[in-house]
Amino acid sequence: MIPKTDLVIATRNQGKLDEIRKALSDLPWVNHPFKIHSLDEFPEIGEIEEDGKTFEENALKKARTVCQATRFLTLGDDSGLVVPYLNGSPGVFSARYSGPQATASQNNEKLLKELDGVPTEKRIASYVCVMVLVSPTGKEQLAKASCQGVISETPKGSGGFGYDPLFFLPSLKKTMAEIPLELKNRLSHRGKALEEIKKKISYAV
Ligand code: IMP
Repeated sequence: MIPKTDLVIATRNQGKLDEIRKALSDLPWVNHPFKIHSLDEFPEIGEIEEDGKTFEENALKKARTVCQATRFLTLGDDSGLVVPYLNGSPGVFSARYSGPQATASQNNEKLLKELDGVPTEKRIASYVCVMVLVSPTGKEQLAKASCQGVISETPKGSGGFGYDPLFFLPSLKKTMAEIPLELKNRLSHRGKALEEIKKKISYAV
């Protein structure tokens, strides 16, 4: 079953948008008959405050708010980096780890500072992603996935976004910023959550 409306991706994060658009591009209805929009196309929807305590709460809030405003099927994503040695930080605060207007490089600097002198075995980290589909009829579907890595001591690579230059994948001996988008989508938290949610699209319409 195909959706009955266009789909909005409830984010303005260009890195996330590229990954999500790529992952959805093999759905038979994408572009024809239905389009995929980003939140940038709806400037009247202002900043949605991420005040939830969990990725689930934030993803649901973003998807519900945007679906209500656009009346389109909406995909909301909330994700972040979880470092057990730092008691789960930066977690839901990943985007604003070093302050409300933080850039990715400021966040990465803060992470390196917090882990200064910490041995490799304690630098284990996970990326976590929750994807939520909300339909104008009120149906909701949720998918959650994670991906394990190690926070390296120096950033490497220019791909991806956010913490990717520090997120080292031991099996590939590369950081997430050193691999192509297609490969990142196959193994990342977001890629895996998207595969799950794609299977649930027909139940959300
Ligand atoms: P939010 O989901 O908009 O709250 O932001 C998630 C934040 O988590 C991003 O701004 C990044 O700092 C971080 N993050 C989430 N997913 C990734 C990823 O795939 N690569 C790098 N950083 C990520």
